[in-house]
Amino acid sequence: MTTTRFAPSPTGYLHVGNLRTALMNYLIARKAGGTFILRIDDTDPERSKEEYVDAIKQDLEWLGLTWDKVERQSERLGRYAEAATKLRDIGRFYEAFETPVELDLKRKKQLNMGKPPVYDRAALALSDAERAALRADRGQGVWRFKLDHQRIEWADGIIGDVSIDAASVSDPVLIRQDGQVLYTLASVVDDTDMGVTDVVRGSDHVTNTATQIQIIEALGGTAPRFAHHSLLTGPQGEALSKRLGTLALRDLRARGVEPMALLSHLARLGSSDPAELMTDMAALVDGFEVSHFGTAPTKFDVEDLFPLTGRYLQSLPLEAVRDRVLAAGVSEDRAEAFWTVIRDNIETLNDVDGWATLCRDGATPVIDDEDREFVAQAITMLPEGPFDADTWGAWTSAVKAATGRKGRGLFMPLRKALTGQAHGPDMGALMPLLNVVKAR
Ligand code: GLU
Repeated sequence: MTTTRFAPSPTGYLHVGNLRTALMNYLIARKAGGTFILRIDDTDPERSKEEYVDAIKQDLEWLGLTWDKVERQSERLGRYAEAATKLRDIGRFYEAFETPVELDLKRKKQLNMGKPPVYDRAALALSDAERAALRADRGQGVWRFKLDHQRIEWADGIIGDVSIDAASVSDPVLIRQDGQVLYTLASVVDDTDMGVTDVVRGSDHVTNTATQIQIIEALGGTAPRFAHHSLLTGPQGEALSKRLGTLALRDLRARGVEPMALLSHLARLGSSDPAELMTDMAALVDGFEVSHFGTAPTKFDVEDLFPLTGRYLQSLPLEAVRDRVLAAGVSEDRAEAFWTVIRDNIETLNDVDGWATLCRDGATPVIDDEDREFVAQAITMLPEGPFDADTWGAWTSAVKAATGRKGRGLFMPLRKALTGQAHGPDMGALMPLLNVVKAR
């Protein structure tokens, strides 16, 4: 039984980087008919906020990434304490008292000597009396997991075979001085207790994975399958981390990005499968293969989402957008014609309002100087409304006969006068929807 989880910390809004992780885990679970858990990693009481928990759920709901279960780490502190006791009992957990400043000094010395900055395990050599003295002086220490100095190996679902020398990694701190359990311990306890079989996450977690495998095994569990996807970069290959704040899912939503466009894009970005616009979740699930993703940094350009959104909207019948069209003020009886006419000329549903306003109130005419007289003459020949499917053809034929203009010189000034823009829907189809022509 396949079980995956998406494990955000509720310390901010979800962005495209988080979504990539969420989507991969979701698709693996759905493809296997398994379970997808939303796990809220909220062990940090200062930084975790309830409003972000709600926001994370809203964002996932907007995208249609439904979860089967919600788990919260803050409700599982008892289990983490049990795991800590077990690690102490089996001699894999030790208390260390160095201050951050002391640790920093050690690291600098090691680096100066050309050595990797790995924690030197000085705390392991403390006698009971020394430890008691330190505790009396400094209070509780931090608790570190004692790595077994062997190579840690796993077959990564994306990277392939990974082998990390445990001696090159510091013994991870699992409990802070103030007693707060850190992510690494909470995560492995959860993955084991919740029967998680597959973990996909960013390649910034590769070293964590090495230590987590040892902790899981020390606790008597079996490590899940791991896959580490490459990190997203900006279009120029620049680090995205600082700009992720501007790529929050709720901002993309406000800008009119459609869920299926976003999901289709991310489900293939960085994969050897061809980019494809998928219009429903089933297609997304069917076509997903985590092993097809590569390790190279993956370029992400937010601008790619808008043409895709436009293409997605073009595939939709009125039924799918009726509420939105009516909300823009288009009448029930014209909604079908309106949607058919404008859907090829919008990038997002936010553009619906502009076309609805144009049909209802008319547009501010755009008339080039050299067309002034021509347009004025043409407008006097425009029949009284309501217009119908023949209005444009009949009108432009009459204008052509009267002025001798033809082709682009005939049509473009009239389009710009009636719609205020050089591009747009077929004028013959648009005319019946125009209530007002301001040029008149
Ligand atoms: N809360 C962790 C993070 O957001 C989860 C990482 C994981 O998937 O294990 O980085």
